[in-house]
This record gives sequence, C-alpha cells and structure tokens, in this order.
Amino acid sequence: MGAGLSGMRTVPLSAESRNELSALFPPERRHLDPSGCWPYASDNSRREAPPDAVVFPTALKEIVALVRWANKHRVPLTPRGLGSNTTGASVPVAGGVVVSLERLARIVSFHPADRLLVAEAGVPNRRIQDVARGAGLLWPPDPTSAAYATVGGNLATHASGPHAARYGASRRYVLGLTAVSGAGTVVRTGARTEKNSVGYDLTDLLVGSEGTLAIIVEATLALVPRPAGRTSLRACYKGVREAVAAVLRLRALTHGPAVCELLDGAALGLVAPDLAPPVPAGAGALLLVDVEEDPRLLEAVTRLHEEALGGEGLLDLRRAHDEPERETLWAARRALSPALRRLASGKVNEDVAVPASRLPELIGHLEDLAARTGLRIVSFGHVANGNLHVNILHDADDADDRGRAAEAASVLFARVLDLGGTLSGEHGVGLAKAPYLPWQIDAETRGVMASVKAVFDPAGILNPGKVLGVPAAPRPA
Ligand SMILES: Cc1cc2nc3c(=O)[nH]c(=O)nc-3n(C[C@H](O)[C@H](O)[C@H](O)COP(=O)(O)OP(=O)(O)OC[C@H]3O[C@@H](n4cnc5c(N)ncnc54)[C@H](O)[C@@H]3O)c2cc1C
Repeated sequence: MGAGLSGMRTVPLSAESRNELSALFPPERRHLDPSGCWPYASDNSRREAPPDAVVFPTALKEIVALVRWANKHRVPLTPRGLGSNTTGASVPVAGGVVVSLERLARIVSFHPADRLLVAEAGVPNRRIQDVARGAGLLWPPDPTSAAYATVGGNLATHASGPHAARYGASRRYVLGLTAVSGAGTVVRTGARTEKNSVGYDLTDLLVGSEGTLAIIVEATLALVPRPAGRTSLRACYKGVREAVAAVLRLRALTHGPAVCELLDGAALGLVAPDLAPPVPAGAGALLLVDVEEDPRLLEAVTRLHEEALGGEGLLDLRRAHDEPERETLWAARRALSPALRRLASGKVNEDVAVPASRLPELIGHLEDLAARTGLRIVSFGHVANGNLHVNILHDADDADDRGRAAEAASVLFARVLDLGGTLSGEHGVGLAKAPYLPWQIDAETRGVMASVKAVFDPAGILNPGKVLGVPAAPRPA
C-alpha cells in the first residue's frame, strides 16, 4: 500500500460526494461514467486502473474547491497533464478523481525583455517553444515528447531532453509556481527575477514531486537566448567505449554541445541499413552532436567539436551543411523507436544516469547483463549528462522472458547505484520505480520526505501509491 493510502477509499464515490462534485464542474468538464473515464485509466507506461471520475478545471479556484471536496470525502486525486510519462505516474491506482489539467492551457503573459513567460500548467511544451522562438528565445527543457507533454507534467517529473547536454534539466528554468497543496492551500513560490534569496525554495521542492505534494496551476518559466546558428555532426566509432571517450572530451569544451546523443552498437545495428550517408563497416557506436552558437562563432566552435570527436576509434565524421543534410544525419535517432517496436513485443525502458566518467563501467555492466541473460539490450540517449535509455527487449507474451527482463532491470539498478548514479535521469519514479527508491534514498532521508508529504498533503489524497511508501524490492547481490 502506497504513502497516504492508509484509510483511503478505493470504493466508488458516494451519491452525496458525486452530487457535490457535479456542482463543482459543469457537465462538459467532467466525466462520471466509465466510458468517459476509461481513456484516463492509463498513461504511456501501459499500466491501467480506471478512475471514478475525471474533471477538467479551468481556474485556480476550481482546483482549491476540488481539493477541499477530496479532503472532506477522502477521495484520491491524481493530477494529469497529457499522460505521456513512462512510469505509471498518472495512473489512478487508488481510484478517485483524475484532475486533467489539459484545459488549463493559456499563456498568461510573455516578457521577452525579462526572458520569462508565465503559463498555465496544461500548456503543451511545444507551444511554449513556438512562442519563445518568435522572440529569439528558448525554454531549455525540450523532451522528445514536447508536442504531447504539458509544462505541469514536465515540472512535476523534472523532465529534460536533448538540450540538457548544454542547459541541464527543468528545475533551472522555473522561477516560480502557483500550486494548490493537498491541504487545499494556495502556495505561491519564487519571484519574477533570476536571482532570489528570500525564503525556503519551495519551487525546487515542487519540481519533481510527481503530483504527490501539490497541483501545479501556473509556472513562471525562465527562457534563454536561442542561438541563431546551428550545425549537426555525426561521428561513427569502432565501439561504444571510444564514443564515450569522445563525449568526455566534448564535456571539457567551454562552448560544449547543445545536444549529444549516443546510439550503442545494438541501436546502430537496428537503423544502419536505412542510413544515408551509410555507416562504415565495423561501426559499433554513433554520436549525434548539435552545435548551436551565434553565427559569428559557429565555424570556430564546430571545429573545436570536430577536434574533440576525433581520436582513437573514430571511423567516420560528417558535418551537415544545411537543414536537409541535418535532417538526414538525425534520421538515425528518429528511426530508432519505431525500429525497437518492430523488434520485440515487450521492452523494459529505463533512463538511468551515472557520473559521466563512469559511463564506460556502465557499458561493461550492460554487456555482461546481455551475455548472462541472453536478452537483447539496446541503449541510446542523452549521453553528455551520463543519461542512457536502456531498453531490455523481451517477448511480452512469455512469462519467463518478462521475469528475466524485470530481473535484469533490477540488476541494472543495483549496478548504477554502485557507480554513484541514479535510477532516473529524467522520467521520475512513479509506480514503476517506487519499489527501488529505497535502494537510492536511505530510511532516515525517506522519513524527512514523508514528513514533508504530511505537511503538504496531510490526508494523503494526492497521487497515492507513487514515489514514497512502497515496500522495497529485494536487492540483488
Ligand atoms: C515518445 C516519448 C518521448 C519522451 N521523451 C522524453 C524526454 O526526452 N525527456 C523526458 O524527461 N521525458 C520524456 N518523456 C516522458 C514524458 O513525456 C515526460 O515525463 C513529461 O514531462 C510528462 O508530461 P505530461 O504532461 O504527459 O504529464 P503526465 O504523464 O500526465 O504526468 C506525469 C506526472 O506529473 C504529474 N503531473 C502532471 N501535471 C501536473 C500538475 N499540473 N501538477 C502536479 N502534478 C502534475 C502527474 O501526476 C504524474 O505524476 C517521453 C515520453 C514519450 C512517450
């Protein structure tokens, strides 16, 4: 049973609570019938548990009233953006009400001179990027899912994306939040300034809290200047160790890569036959690097990148000279997800991260794991931050195979933690990693987290069963 689930109702809503809920939301902004609720039972994790109701607030005061109603009737609330997370974080496992923020989706104000934008939680990331681009600006968190992930979901998961190579993850690009705690209190955090030394930093606390402490209603986002010059480089190496050595050289540049993605040998093998220009025979890893700079610096900085990419094991280095060429170089990365889907009916997809210098050891562990289990393991990802997406492929209809894949994931987690790494670089904990969180965060520290949870959400109504309070999985030797 998850944190805050104790005493929580998982039975259908009473007639009285349904009537009260109906009075809070007009019919076109609520579902109380199973068929309307069903699409909100699952997320991209493919786990599912139907809610009793779904509501679509469009104003702060509606969320306050909803949270007070939920406390009165002890009904779980599961905040939801667009359900693109991979960990089951927005699956309503305890029933209750899904709070879909998708219609709270206005850009409140945009201040290019101050490089900030105020947005409601349900604005899709892609819209933020489009508005910012118009003024030569960029919001650095750019998950590959930008078109179907919200600002609220991005902040709740502390998401990032390819541009994290240069800019890091979302926490650095939010100046303040308006949120409603699980107690129904309106919490206004931060300031509209880039520097702010007043009070406890509740913004940082709420970012990454996965809807377990408060419902994010509005965010003040910090933007950065968007470099007008861009080029892409594609480097093929003999093996993944040589590619990782090049990544460490790139990390030493003062004007380092904006984006740096790795495909290991297995990933490259999947897409190589379709690539143009072709990948040289014997290539066992590929790096895709974007250089983004002021056009006056672009050539010099690109050359520094080419130098860093050179070195032992480099088989081929290409530079895109225009956008169509750039698209061609990036085709490898884009082809990967569909190719993986064709290859196996099941995949355990983890987004572990290790300190960059430990990447070679992580690669060694992955090779051992594949050899020992006989499972196909395909890895790629935002490698400049030590973050790898490890895909453990298996037959989803074969219970033995599924068991072996789950066992392999738990060995992977143990090795990653031995290397000083983290279970998740960007996807968060949700349901899927909750049993492993105690491996990374000790009991005393979890106790402090539980106390924080009790302050924000005393009745435990917000997103029960996620992140904290789940019994630890047995840890392999
Ligand atoms: C193809 C694909 C590519 C992806 N690429 C990336 C990537 O590059 N980088 C990356 O980091 N992630 C990536 N993701 C994962 C996912 O898109 C992110 O986790 C995203 O931030 C989730 O946003 P969402 O709006 O869909 O939130 P949801 O999935 O609906 O919710 C995620 C979590 O946030 C909580 N939440 C949502 N909105 C609020 C709110 N307003 N207040 C409080 N809590 C809230 C939910 O309760 C849940 O715990 C990818 C997913 C897919 C399917």
